[in-house]
Amino acid sequence: MSGRSHYLGIPREKIPWYPVINPDLCTNCGACINFCANEVFSPGDSSPEVINPMNCVVGCSACARECPSGAISFMSQKELVALLQKLRQEMAEAKPENK
Ligand code: SF4
Ligand code: SF4
Repeated sequence: MSGRSHYLGIPREKIPWYPVINPDLCTNCGACINFCANEVFSPGDSSPEVINPMNCVVGCSACARECPSGAISFMSQKELVALLQKLRQEMAEAKPENK
């Protein structure tokens, strides 16, 4: 399954929203891999690898709640909102004027 190419009109690759795994906390239990249907994670030797970060649904952090070790983190929702506002403003400013 591939991720969306845009979110609120913003190219998905400009939005750094994806899970980050703390290898010091991860026990490699596999719960996150089993939970997420978007093929974001892949099994790894000592912890899963985030192989398709852009498949992660912007604003979703459900796998972090599934992790029994608290090893998964994301940027805060506040940071995400501020980033989206900034990117949308940049896009509006970059649009050519209608003649
Ligand atoms: S659910 Fe948490 S502890 Fe389990 S493999 Fe994923 S990140 Fe590691
Ligand atoms: S936040 Fe949601 S979409 Fe993203 S990896 Fe976790 S479960 Fe999958």
